[in-house]
Amino acid sequence: MSTRQKVTLILSGLFLIFFISMIIIVSLSFRNFGIQSAEKRAMLTAEVVKSGLTAHMINGIMDKRLYFINQIENIENVSALWIARSPTVIEQYGEGFNNEIARDNIDKRVLRSGKTVEEMTETASKSTLRMTIPFKASAFGATNCMSCHNAKEGEVLGAISMVIDISDIRGSSFATVGYTALLAVLIMIAVLIVVNKFLKPYVNIFYSIRDVMLAAYNGNYSKRVDGGDMVESKSVATMLNSLLEKLQKVFEEIDKKVYIFLQNKSKNVSHDPLVNINDTIDKLSEIYKFKQTIEHDENLEDIYERLAYLFKTKFKIDDFTIIEADSTSGIKEVVYSVNGCHCDLANSPDSQCRADRINSIVDSTIFDETCSKFHEESLEYLCIPYSISNELNLIISIVTKDKEESLRVRNIVGLIEDYIATARPAIVSKKLMQILNRMARVDQLTGMFNRKYLDEFAETAIPQALRSKVPYGILMIDIDFFKMINDTYGHDIGDEAIRVVSRVIKESIRSSDIPIRFGGEEFIVLLHNCDKAHIKEVAEKIRVNFAKQSISAGSETFTKTLSVGAVMFPDDSNSIWKCIKYADIALYHAKEHGRNQVVCFNESLLKNGDMKNSF
Ligand code: GH3
Ligand code: MG
Ligand code: MG
Repeated sequence: MSTRQKVTLILSGLFLIFFISMIIIVSLSFRNFGIQSAEKRAMLTAEVVKSGLTAHMINGIMDKRLYFINQIENIENVSALWIARSPTVIEQYGEGFNNEIARDNIDKRVLRSGKTVEEMTETASKSTLRMTIPFKASAFGATNCMSCHNAKEGEVLGAISMVIDISDIRGSSFATVGYTALLAVLIMIAVLIVVNKFLKPYVNIFYSIRDVMLAAYNGNYSKRVDGGDMVESKSVATMLNSLLEKLQKVFEEIDKKVYIFLQNKSKNVSHDPLVNINDTIDKLSEIYKFKQTIEHDENLEDIYERLAYLFKTKFKIDDFTIIEADSTSGIKEVVYSVNGCHCDLANSPDSQCRADRINSIVDSTIFDETCSKFHEESLEYLCIPYSISNELNLIISIVTKDKEESLRVRNIVGLIEDYIATARPAIVSKKLMQILNRMARVDQLTGMFNRKYLDEFAETAIPQALRSKVPYGILMIDIDFFKMINDTYGHDIGDEAIRVVSRVIKESIRSSDIPIRFGGEEFIVLLHNCDKAHIKEVAEKIRVNFAKQSISAGSETFTKTLSVGAVMFPDDSNSIWKCIKYADIALYHAKEHGRNQVVCFNESLLKNGDMKNSF
């Protein structure tokens, strides 16, 4: 129910209660007035009858009294009138005419008690008042009653009863009440019209404000208050509207501006700009905290660990792999994985990745078996490429158990992108540092690791190999009479010979083995998880293959040989540096005994001065 209707209803109710009360009061007043005036008339008539009868008595014409009484009975509104003699009078003068005895109990009661009795009779059509008034004997009035009556002072001599019709008073009271009610209804209608007209603009602006505020609460600030025609309501509406306009403009501006800091602009959570601003600021603050943290991370591995932590805790992703894809070399490297990489990339790092190649999301829920590198049919995958720099892409390969989960992840891809974009500068700088570090550990001529790398490897990986009991075969390789190449063909051809040896070494070993240029034309190869039979085999393969290589020197070509000293770590010694020394001794032995051969270290090779424990 509207406020206007409520006000009208309340006012009508109040008016109705007022009118009904007024009508009841007026009606009762009229009734009382009618009764009182009838009583007065009855008393007056009784007094007239008493005086008349006394006069008849004094004049000795008591026998003519019937005419007098009939005349009185004809007075307007007197429906009936009779007198009743008391037993004292009956005893003295007899019963009189027929109608002069007590006719009913009221008469008898009045004659007995000497008290006036009155009785109202109201029917639908008529209202009458019956009154019976006693005549009492008195010696002290205008006439001495005792002069004719044998009675005592105050004794009841008779009673006069009359019925007075007061219907006319009731009729006029009804008419008065009717006119009053009509007037009241007219006044009520007039008041309601005036009140309604006065209230209307206030109620209208109230409703307009309510609608506008409701819309604003739900994020729509474009609605405006209708102020109507009244000056006051117009000014209220103008003030509110200018406030709303200001709010709308500010929110729109903020909404647009805060998005500048996010990559993922399209995902509005609500049509309410305030909610969106709040959501965006929340996101920005989270991203800023993440940025602050990764900026202080020491290396690339830490950054990937932090990204992985974010994926697990914030994005609730359980199975994913982070892959670095080098667009120059085409090499893919798994840099983080929860359950291991589910595609072929893990086994062959340089194989083609579809997400990297097409540079957009590869989603198995859109097209089954869309990527040929992924073979686990029961799982869904979503591979997202992110460009970090011109040379480096990150591929996030997310594996889910069902399409629903895949869809959830797809919806947060934009947010993931925001975090990766935030991490991008840190990844690039750490990647550059990693490249520089790697370059400092790689020999420029051969692309093999250098001695610095060997120092670090000896410090970090060898204790680990000892703990996990992984053996290494160690080869020390040296080109025979290399100096002659330099002397005969020059330094460049010497360099070429070094490159040829390094190529032959790389081609003869597995990817898990580590080739190192130890210095000049000397190489060390660490053969991972290698046994005694295998070490000799690999060393021979290198020796034989190199011997077959023809090295060009201008128009000429020549071949060269090399010698190898081999040693087993930790069988021959659990010190890597001692093993390298033993390999050197074995190599020296090979050189001593004709070169172009492989010599495996054994303790008999130690000369008198080279005691086993002296290194
Ligand atoms: P051996 O069979 O006894 O090993 O004889 P060798 O001539 O190879 O003897 P040695 O190890 O003494 O000679 C190494 C020479 O290699 C000395 C040095 O001038 C040369 N050399 C060292 N590093 C480089 C390099 O980077 N490039 C070239 N061209 N020559 C190098
Ligand atoms: Mg040499
Ligand atoms: Mg040498």
